[in-house]
Formats: sequence, C-alpha cells, structure tokens
Amino acid sequence: MRSVDHHIAGTCATAAGAARTSDIFDPNTGQVQARVTLGDAATLERAVAAAQTAQPGWAATNPQRRARVMFRFRELVEAHMDELAHLLSSEHGKVIADAKGDIQRGLEVVEFACGIPHVLKGEYTQGAGPGIDVYSMRQPIGIGAGITPFNFPAMIPMWMFGVAIACGNAFILKPSERDPSVPVRLAELMREAGLPEGVLQVVHGDKEMVDAILDHPAIGAVSFVGSSDIAHYVYRRGVAAGKRVQAMGGAKNHGIVMPDADLDQVVADLSGAAFGSAGERCMALPVVVPVGEKTADALRERLLPAIAALRVGVSTDAEAHYGPVVNAAHRARVANWIHTGVDEGAELVVDGRDFRLQGHEQGFFIGPSLFDRVTPDMQAYKEEIFGPVLQIVRAPDFETAVRLPSEHQYGNGVAIFTRNGHAAREFAARVNVGMVGINVPIPVPVAYHTFGGWKRSAFGDTNQHGMEGVKFWTKVKTITQRWPDGAGGGPGGVQDAFVIPTMG
Ligand code: NAD
Repeated sequence: MRSVDHHIAGTCATAAGAARTSDIFDPNTGQVQARVTLGDAATLERAVAAAQTAQPGWAATNPQRRARVMFRFRELVEAHMDELAHLLSSEHGKVIADAKGDIQRGLEVVEFACGIPHVLKGEYTQGAGPGIDVYSMRQPIGIGAGITPFNFPAMIPMWMFGVAIACGNAFILKPSERDPSVPVRLAELMREAGLPEGVLQVVHGDKEMVDAILDHPAIGAVSFVGSSDIAHYVYRRGVAAGKRVQAMGGAKNHGIVMPDADLDQVVADLSGAAFGSAGERCMALPVVVPVGEKTADALRERLLPAIAALRVGVSTDAEAHYGPVVNAAHRARVANWIHTGVDEGAELVVDGRDFRLQGHEQGFFIGPSLFDRVTPDMQAYKEEIFGPVLQIVRAPDFETAVRLPSEHQYGNGVAIFTRNGHAAREFAARVNVGMVGINVPIPVPVAYHTFGGWKRSAFGDTNQHGMEGVKFWTKVKTITQRWPDGAGGGPGGVQDAFVIPTMG
C-alpha cells in the first residue's frame, strides 16, 4: 500500500513509531489506494524548527531571485501537468480536463507571484516635514501556514504558498487528508525549482494537527479554506492566539435569470456550473432563480434534456462531464440532502440517487438531480449540499431575486443572466455577496485580482491572492527619517520637543 508522508526539511519523512493514518480512496472504484500519515504537535515542531532555520536566509534573498524560483516552478509544473492531473483526479475524482484547470488556476497565482519584486515596492514621501522623509516597506510575517480543503488540492495551496513564499515567508501546508498527494508533489517541485529546504513544507493531519498549527507561537499567520463551521472555529482560535487569520468557508451561490436572458446560453452555463466537478466547488451554482413564472417554466423545459444528456463517468473518461464525489460519506450526505428537500416539500424533478456506473458499482458516483419550487425556508436551501444538485427557486420579480442571495447566510459568489445593462449594474451594486458574475456563471476572479466571499463564506478581512494576498502575508513598516546637518539648528527649539510633532 502506497503511503503519503510529511514533507519536512526537504525530504519525505515517515513518522517514527505508530503514527495514526487515514485512508485515501480511489473514488472511481471505492477502494483504498493509499494511506496518509496523520501528524501531531511533535511533527509540527520539526517543521517549525526547519522553517525557523530557513526563513531568515530566504527573506534576505533578493526578490528577483525569489521570483526566479517561482518562474522555474511554473515551468516544472507545466512539464509535469499530465502526471499531476492524473494523480489529482485519482484521489479527488474530478475529470482530467478539470484537474488540469485546478492546477492551471493555481499556476496563474504563481505567475502573479513572479512579479513580486514590483508589488513589494514600498511608498516614499520626500519632504514630509522639514528635512523629513517618510517611507514604508513590506516585510514577511515569518512563518505562515495554510490549511486547505479537498476540492481544489492544487489551486488552493498555490493561492496561498505562491504569494506567501514569494513575499519571503516560510510556509507550512496542511492539505486535506482526503487527497494529499498533489500538495506533496508540488512541494517536491518547488525544491527542484531551487527553493531552499524548509521554506515550503507539508504536514498531514486532521483536527489535532490543525489545533497544533493554531496554537503554535512561531506561526504568525494562518490561511484556511474549508467548510464554514470549521472556518469560524479556525478564525476564533487563531485570532485568540494572536495570529493573523483569514478563513474562507462554504457557499450557496445563486444564478439569477432575468426574463430577457439568452436561455440557451444560461442552460449551457448552468449545466457546467451546477454539475461540473460533481458540484464540489465553492463557486458552483447550485441555486437558479428565474424571474417570473414564464422564465421559470421555459428554463425548466430546457434544463431537462440538458441534464439527461450529462455523462457521469470515471474521472479518466475524456467524454464524461463529471466523475464521482470524493468519498462514500460525502455521497451519503448529498443523498441525505435530496431526501430532506423532498421531505420539506420541494418538487424533485430529476433524482440522481439511484445512479450506478456499470462496472464501477462501488465507486462514489451520484447522478444529477434537479429540484423545482424550492423555497427560502427549507433547510435544503439554506445549507450547502456540495453535490450535483440544482435547485430552482422561483422569484416573482427582480427585487425578490436581489433579496434571495443577499439574505442567504453564505455570500461567496452570485451571477445574473440578462441582456439589460441597467439591471445588471443595479444588481452588482446592491447584492450582498463578495463575487459577482454578469453573464458569467463562475465568477472566480483572475489571479491578479482577489478571491473572497462575504458573510459566512469568509472570516477575516483580507482575500486570497492579488494585492490582498500580498497584504495578508506581509507586515508594513513605516520609517520617518531625518538627517540633521550637524549644525545643531533645525526646526523648533527645546520647548517644541515636548509637543507632538504636527505638519501644521
Ligand atoms: P473541511 O472543512 O472538512 O476541511 C477543510 C480543512 O479543515 C481540511 O484540511 C481538514 O483536514 C480540516 N479539518 C477538518 N475537520 C476539522 C476540525 N474539526 N477541526 C479543524 N480542522 C478540521 O472542508 P472540505 O470538505 O475539505 O472542503 C469543502 C468545503 O470547503 C466546502 O464547504 C466548500 O464550500 C469550502 N470551500 C470554500 C472555498 C472558498 O474559497 N470559500 C473554496 C473551496 C472550498
């Protein structure tokens, strides 16, 4: 049985003694394909010690040299794209093309990080006062940590370490224990790209390791992405320990369909956004809100053949639209939410629960499901399902359509489909959600902008990547300098030294 070990101080390190392990499944077959070692506080201590040794030298390496490592890493990941995509797909279950997208979106953050010398430049004011200049610089936090979810095992680690490391930090990554192999390969490729040992390390584990990270006094900043209850917990515990914390949580994104929308385009967009990656995306569109009964009926009529045409297959099937979900427990959870929706009185138009893939009966597959007449009071609407389930919530008018996502507990992404620029502009300005798409179903911002939701979709006040990421992984230092001419003169007298300096 393959074992996935920590990557500490530049090498893969098997824990001594009887370490706990967790099974890694192949979601296509339902079989255990590997085991990951679960670390504890002592494991983390070794990683922190190596990070403390490595970080000062890395921070002192000039930013162009640090950027060159990122450039080389980018080339290496491209060269290993097929290998990485197959590995990712075999543990996560997303189809190969989508696995490549997962890696590519992470690489785009690495590309942004290649420009780090430019973005780290500080500000300077000459003559802020008599003979006084003021300037600022951004310095790394020191040691940062990232705790990542299963659903983007390449992109989300790169969101974090791409920026953190380019800024001069050492970084300790605690990936999801469900698909940890790609994060380890990425750390190995960073070493191959020339990153000194100890600057990027991977420790595996569950709550025990997460708590050790949150409590460790040498770790100055923690970035978390996962479900909301755990995000909130991580935020509270990390902040209580005096750390800088950003913690992204769950989502329930809505797609508003105005009566003037191009319905063929909407159906094509919705199929991918609701069912792609088996719905296991925080920027999936699991709720569609047609405005007006006519729009709702027409949309439903067009959705049915589109859903019937979806091909669910093994993740290596190049024709498949989506593959299995990540494990049996998640499959059961999705099925349970469908059950709840039925109990609550929503109309189950397409039921994917009985889907079995021939020859892969033990795989974690689930067919697409469609609900109509879902209402805001239903638990199945309020909570994130994170599976291939699309819910139609009918809205009588535009105002209701704006209110639904605005009042939902999650506020990650939202989209509006319309030909009316005024309606789109109003919607974007008023909706209480962090990322908005206008005729774009999955509005994940590009790497040099920034990613982050509102409400229970994110705790903390800085987003991922772009300049927000640079701000999160650095501290600002501001210097006020005066170089007296030595003649003893200068502004003010002895008396003035006792008064707070002003620019009056
Ligand atoms: P999860 O919350 O189960 O796990 C996330 C991380 O937390 C993992 O590394 C896991 O090991 C750790 N963890 C699990 N239980 C813990 C506990 N009790 N205490 C401390 N740490 C614990 O999330 P997941 O199932 O891996 O990922 C799916 C979730 O992530 C969904 O809710 C999805 O919406 C969300 N997500 C959000 C974003 C975003 O940017 N907002 C992006 C991707 C995924």
